[in-house]
Amino acid sequence: MSRGFRVFLVGFVLAAIFYSFSYVYIKQRLDDLRDKKYQEISKEMHNELELLIQEKSEAILLVGLTLSQNRAISAVLSSKRPKKLQLDELTSLLERYMSLHNVRFQVLNSDGIPVYKSWNSNSSKNLIDNQSDIEKLIRIPKVRSTITITDYDLHFQTIVPLYDKYGRLIGFLETIANFNSLVSKLKMKGYQTLLVVDKHYKKHLQDKNSNLFVGDYYIVNTVDKEILLNVVKEHGVDYFLKDQEYILDTEDNYLFSVVKIPDINQNPMAYFIIAKPLYSIDMEDIYNTRYNLIQSLVAIVVFVLLFLYIIYTINYKKFIQQQNKLLECSVEEKNEELERQSKEMKYLAHHDLLTALPNKNLFRDRLQQAIKHAKREHESIAILFLDLDRFKEINDTYGHDIGDTLLQQVAQRLFSCVRSEDTVARIGGDEFTVLLPNTNQVSVVKVIEKIFNEIKKPFSISNVELHTTFSVGISIYKQDGETPEILLRNADTAMYKVKDSGKNSYQFYNEEMTELVRKRLELDADIRNGLKNHEFIAYYQPKIDATTMKVVGLESLIRWNHPTRGLLFPVEFIPFAEEVGLIVEIDKYMLEMCVDQLVKWTNEGYNTGKLSINVSTKKLESDDFRTDLYKLVERSGVDPKRLELEILESQIMRDPERSIDILRSIRSLGISISIDDFGTGYSSLSYLKKLPVSKLKIDRSFIVDVPQDEDDVAIVRTIIALAKSLGLETIAEGVETKSQVEFLVQEGCHNIQGYYYSKPLPIEDCEEFMKKYR
Ligand code: C2E
Ligand code: CA
Ligand code: CA
Repeated sequence: MSRGFRVFLVGFVLAAIFYSFSYVYIKQRLDDLRDKKYQEISKEMHNELELLIQEKSEAILLVGLTLSQNRAISAVLSSKRPKKLQLDELTSLLERYMSLHNVRFQVLNSDGIPVYKSWNSNSSKNLIDNQSDIEKLIRIPKVRSTITITDYDLHFQTIVPLYDKYGRLIGFLETIANFNSLVSKLKMKGYQTLLVVDKHYKKHLQDKNSNLFVGDYYIVNTVDKEILLNVVKEHGVDYFLKDQEYILDTEDNYLFSVVKIPDINQNPMAYFIIAKPLYSIDMEDIYNTRYNLIQSLVAIVVFVLLFLYIIYTINYKKFIQQQNKLLECSVEEKNEELERQSKEMKYLAHHDLLTALPNKNLFRDRLQQAIKHAKREHESIAILFLDLDRFKEINDTYGHDIGDTLLQQVAQRLFSCVRSEDTVARIGGDEFTVLLPNTNQVSVVKVIEKIFNEIKKPFSISNVELHTTFSVGISIYKQDGETPEILLRNADTAMYKVKDSGKNSYQFYNEEMTELVRKRLELDADIRNGLKNHEFIAYYQPKIDATTMKVVGLESLIRWNHPTRGLLFPVEFIPFAEEVGLIVEIDKYMLEMCVDQLVKWTNEGYNTGKLSINVSTKKLESDDFRTDLYKLVERSGVDPKRLELEILESQIMRDPERSIDILRSIRSLGISISIDDFGTGYSSLSYLKKLPVSKLKIDRSFIVDVPQDEDDVAIVRTIIALAKSLGLETIAEGVETKSQVEFLVQEGCHNIQGYYYSKPLPIEDCEEFMKKYR
């Protein structure tokens, strides 16, 4: 669940709880207020009615009392037989009051017998209907003011005793008024009123004129009863008579209040059911209260929400700030990392990892800058191209670790020989370049001599003392070129010149050197052509067993029948072919040609012995050498036992482990292997044991001076003994003299190859030779 959603949910639940409480609270408050209001109104209705009744009673009493003082009335009562005039006077007097208040009068004599009444109907004989009442009045005459029920009506009644001038009771004046005026007055005040007589009077009120009943209750109203009557009929009168302060009828929209009128004995007699239409009740204060309540609650809600929001935003802000900080940190870290990496990459792109010197790219850049500067200032720049002599040998002999350390130390020494404005770079395996801006030939030579002096001091690495030298080529801006490419190439060319003429020296570039390069390119194209045109041929040099004088083998040696330069010896193209990789093609060519020749000779019955073919390890290491060889054996039908591959010791020892694997695969085809130029390649005994070879060929350099040179004698003896102990054959090459042969035979090496018996021979001559030495 997301943080936002959680906050929303909590807010929602809180709001719901708050809403429920608020709702109940407001409702309760408003109900209380409304109840109070209705109570007040109900009381007001009571008061209003009571006041009106009071007023009416008092008015009727006043009328009664006033009339009782009237002489006309006493005159009528005093005379036993009232005269017409007297009666007329009385009538007009009473009629005046009558018209004013809808009031009726009755005059009774002292015996309680009516002598005059202001109305005609006979229906009510007597207002004072109760005989005991009358008797009581006669006995104790006094003013009486009550609300009474007559046969058909409820009314105000006043009875005033009348006295003559002597103070004798002469009769009573009864004044009666009905309630209709009250109802009308209440109506004017906004109340509907229904005047109801209690059900106890039902019997009493059985009158043909008064037939309006609701249930057992008689309805007194003659006016303004229609509206309420229906409502009261609907509920029944009893519904209104419960002891309640008010009755709320929300269906008909009335507020009812009931005023009870008891009789003299305090028994229920009549009821005023007063109704006020709800719409006429001013509820504004309640609405205001409700409005205020809602307003304050809304204010509270808003405040709380605001409070929560502020807390949330503060927290959220804190959270965001934290996140931001974290992000910033990680971005910063990433940036630093990126910067570090890009620096590293830049460094890697421009430096040599082993020596930490600038690499070829950086050197080229600096040379470019130096050229710009030199052009402006008309200065000279020298570019030295340095190549360590015999570094490969050191590497092959002592391993790559020592080789690498040597390179590092050489780099340090080189660096120590130059000025701060000079640049030393490593641009390849054992190739270094030095950029010397603003210089001349003399100072260049001085720097080189300094370098030679430094480099000539022995290097001591892992308890091995090593010696190395430099071959240095120099090109000068701008006489030898104006671009980095040309200057570097020409320095390189000059360096090759040094290599060719004995190494450990320096050489300035000149035109001849360019010529040399041109020649090398030409040679490359020539060899390719020569292979295509079958210009390469094989000479065969016999190998003789000096004890039996028989041919025990032949070695094929390449010759180039060059179309313009005549017959060329291997020295003129094999090292170059080795260097540029063309040797692979050459060896393939020779292998096929020589194997075919062997098959031919075998078929012709020649005793060739084993045919040895010189193979470069570059060829051995090429991907499809073994399949090629297998296919060759298959195709030619040669007996693999008649084949021997001669491999230079120095080449085998470059990567002995790899050589072991390759030689094994060759031997598995049945072809034997001989180590050529043995004694020059620093073979270690441990590897020699593991190598699947069958023969050691003692190098010519050890043979030349035997048996005179003691050292060489010792070496040859050692080699022969070594081979014997390893179960290997030996053969000596370059044997030119009889004493050499004798020495070798004496030492146990009777296989001899050399001019003493025969030079390498073309096919026909070789055939002649074989015929002689069969
Ligand atoms: P290598 O394999 O040591 O061959 C012996 C070299 O000594 C040959 O020189 C041979 O003519 C020469 N030689 C033989 N007997 C005598 C002697 O009594 N006195 C003197 N001074 N020299 C003698 P070559 O034919 O000039 O070959 C030179 C090198 O070229 C060979 O040395 C071999 O390493 C390489 N080579 C020759 N043919 C091939 C080839 O087909 N493939 C490869 N990869 N290398 C070849
Ligand atoms: Ca050889
Ligand atoms: Ca050799």
